[in-house]
Amino acid sequence: MKTQYVLPTYGCAPFEAVRGEGSYLYDSSERRYVDFCAGIATCCLGHAHPAVVEAVSRQAATLMHCSNLYGIPGQAEVAELVVEKMIGIPGRVFFCNSGAEANDGIIKVARRFGHRRPAADGSPRYEVITFNKSFHGRTLGAMAATGQAKIQVEFDPLLVGFKYVDFNDLDALKAAVSEVTCGIMLEAIQGEGGVNPVTPEFLRGVAALCKEKDLLLMIDEVQCGYCRCGATMGWKAVCPEVEPDLVSCAKGMGGGFPMGCFWVSNRAIDGQGTELSSIMGAGSHGSTFGGTPLACAAAKAVITELIAGKYEERAARLGEVVKSTVEGWNLPCVETVRGKGLLRGIGLRKGSFAVPEGLTPAAHVNALCREAGLLACPAGPDTLRLIPALNIPEEVLEEGLAILKSVLEKLA
Ligand SMILES: *Cc1c(COP(=O)(O)O)cnc(C)c1O
Repeated sequence: MKTQYVLPTYGCAPFEAVRGEGSYLYDSSERRYVDFCAGIATCCLGHAHPAVVEAVSRQAATLMHCSNLYGIPGQAEVAELVVEKMIGIPGRVFFCNSGAEANDGIIKVARRFGHRRPAADGSPRYEVITFNKSFHGRTLGAMAATGQAKIQVEFDPLLVGFKYVDFNDLDALKAAVSEVTCGIMLEAIQGEGGVNPVTPEFLRGVAALCKEKDLLLMIDEVQCGYCRCGATMGWKAVCPEVEPDLVSCAKGMGGGFPMGCFWVSNRAIDGQGTELSSIMGAGSHGSTFGGTPLACAAAKAVITELIAGKYEERAARLGEVVKSTVEGWNLPCVETVRGKGLLRGIGLRKGSFAVPEGLTPAAHVNALCREAGLLACPAGPDTLRLIPALNIPEEVLEEGLAILKSVLEKLA
């Protein structure tokens, strides 16, 4: 591969992905891999799903892009599907292209809310509390929201207005809320940070705290949404009764096509019945490429298929298969199997195997899996993440797990 013109920001595997078919990915020598990475949880219907290919091809030949200066019919349809079928709470949607952009969007809504609902002295509230080991993206806003120092190295000074506390620690969270806090932002299951699910008690506690202190409950569903975790949205797999104010989405939404959105609740934010979604009026936000006809065609095909196939139920069932299978191996290197649905993390036991200099345990095991024909993904230093397509055939899931078993057995 001739890569000298590409900025080397990724630790790239010595592997060229050239073709995908369902849950198999092929490299440039036609070697076949079982894909438990699925484009980092984006290719939720596998590679080259016929309905998605058909929708994208047809739309590409009709109208690819026209800008948001004109009406885009697909946007209304996708927004309806997102609000009615995925989120399930009255609200409105803004389209963007990635997870980081979706999170920047909900941070902007929270800041505007902080102007409309200022502190007691009349000054705007602006602070968003997020959590250690969270991941919200790489833009200046989303990076500042991310509670991981390694993401922020030498990019300071960071955007002001963020505070990080330990995940699932309600007392620490309560202590962190101040006069200027306007929102609390979390992933229902922390993905990149190690596959750490929120506990139901904590999520309920956060929701109650938000009500009590007039804060926005902001949920980053970029990785755990769209049926991946055993419910249409990740938070519903934990506490379906909780009602967020803002939700960010991307990854699985386009089935591999760049597509993201954020959802804003219609709930009243004052005694006059002002809807939260009404505070983002004309001119308040925008994106040239947000919600193109092509992206909407992809998302419509994906969401329609996710609903028709009840993929949230399938993810829940197959996720249990993954968990019980890996636990059943009783291997010394496996400490825990965390996560929900088909967002699973294998916590590797520290010190139970040798790791080459310069690699984390997770990166080492991930490389061994790839050499053995299985693509997975690290999540933090000690967790191997398994995020296959939601429609992975059961025999391909078993094939991948068998490869994983042989790799982990050799480690031990
Ligand atoms: C991947 C991810 C993001 C960032 O999404 P991009 O599309 O890479 O900008 C944000 N939040 C979570 C939870 C993610 O997993």
